[in-house]
Amino acid sequence: MDSHRNESQRESEMVTKPHFVVIPWLATSHMIPIVDIACLLAAHGAVVTIITTPASARLVQSRVDRAGDQGTSRITVTTIPFPATEAGLPEGCERVDHVPSPDMVPSFFDAAMQFGDAVAPHCRLMSQRRPNCFVAGISHTWAHVLARELGTPCFIFHGFCAFSLLCCEYLNTHKPHEAVASPDELFDVPVLPPFECRLTRRQLPLQFLPSCPIEDRMRELREFELAVDGIVVNSFEELERDSAARLAAATGKKVFAVGPVSLSHSPTVHDPRAAASDDAKRCMAWLEAKEARSVLYVSFGSAGRMPPAQLMQLGMALVSCPWPVLWVIKGAGSLPDDVKEWLRENTDADGVADSQCLAVRGWAPQVAILSHPAVGGFVTHCGWGSTLESIAAGVPMAAWPFSAEQFLNEKLIVDVLGIGVSIGVTKPTGGVLTGGSGEEKVDVGTEQKGPPFSFLHCNREHTPTGRMPLPPPPIHSVAPRAS
Ligand code: UDP
Repeated sequence: MDSHRNESQRESEMVTKPHFVVIPWLATSHMIPIVDIACLLAAHGAVVTIITTPASARLVQSRVDRAGDQGTSRITVTTIPFPATEAGLPEGCERVDHVPSPDMVPSFFDAAMQFGDAVAPHCRLMSQRRPNCFVAGISHTWAHVLARELGTPCFIFHGFCAFSLLCCEYLNTHKPHEAVASPDELFDVPVLPPFECRLTRRQLPLQFLPSCPIEDRMRELREFELAVDGIVVNSFEELERDSAARLAAATGKKVFAVGPVSLSHSPTVHDPRAAASDDAKRCMAWLEAKEARSVLYVSFGSAGRMPPAQLMQLGMALVSCPWPVLWVIKGAGSLPDDVKEWLRENTDADGVADSQCLAVRGWAPQVAILSHPAVGGFVTHCGWGSTLESIAAGVPMAAWPFSAEQFLNEKLIVDVLGIGVSIGVTKPTGGVLTGGSGEEKVDVGTEQKGPPFSFLHCNREHTPTGRMPLPPPPIHSVAPRAS
């Protein structure tokens, strides 16, 4: 009886409530916040259809499920097949972090365009109700054409913060990077005076690099940015000084700062991949035994990898730290045997070595880790998701940008907000765009300003207790928005 009433209530809501179609970009780290945004829309009364591919359905659905019953009955997760093999990709390669090597990135983007061709008829024929609004992930550049055809507004979700988007808008408009003689020459990106923002061409997001492997796709991205009705950012206006308002002025678009979306539900150690859940539980149990604010958390996002030699150097620094370290390693399975052996002997990866350094080789429950009282600092690649999660948890950062817009985020963290220190990396690290091996076509970013990990050594001298002396974050007052 109840289920019948719920069903008829749902049917009537489908007709009366606004209907959002949310299409996450096909990368794990993009799906996490945009699905949270979909849940927030539903919690505010909207009907939401999330369109994804079969390989991501479980990830998306599990995130929806954990949002509880706040409107999630109004969310439908729809899967449309992704033409991976048709584009020459391995079967099941349906997220950019699945792409096995950088030279397959163009094929992945081709497949993503074909995916758009398959999504379009589905949206035209949506049985219950036509969409009132599209929110599309960064490289679903076809979404605005579909939205126009259906007479519906379309918003873009880049996954970037407002400050980085503002920098990109400046670069697109003024092109200072095209006037420099070398990739290492510094130029100004004066978007937020009086803060200085000086960058090199090497440090820019992919679309500004002269050797961009997906130049045509990046041109389409720019057309998409110019065509959309507005921009959704996982951030909040008070955080990034005036960036959101300046971005709205610079682009002439509406900018909706709706974050930090990681605070919209409580952190969990649950992970849809069963094997990873054990890792997650082990992390949390290990943290439980540590003193408050004593642990350094080291992680480089959903796909950040570095060449094995660099990983070993980092490992040697981390195992010699006087405080406990929780280190997340991606792509550990494809490391050379001697590096695997070194990890086994020198870290607590298998509970064998007597080490203060726990190496997690799978997926770590990052939001739960950052919110744990034992964590005192975060060495991060400055992906915006990680940065905002760290800010939301009040954890100071040591910035080691890898690529994409991460050097821009570093400027925000270190120079604008003063909530982190720079490790001093000046060049990109690891592979471009993918979770691939990181050894192909890489520009290994080992050049550093000071001695490697100088911030660790300097802290060690001043820490007779072995506790991290990083200052408390100056943004305690940043409270989660009541949703
Ligand atoms: N993440 C996680 N566990 C991991 C690695 C990453 O939960 O082991 C999550 C992290 O919490 C964040 C996202 O993956 O939400 C990474 O996004 P970010 O923008 O920082 O980096 P990207 O992966 O895009 O480089």
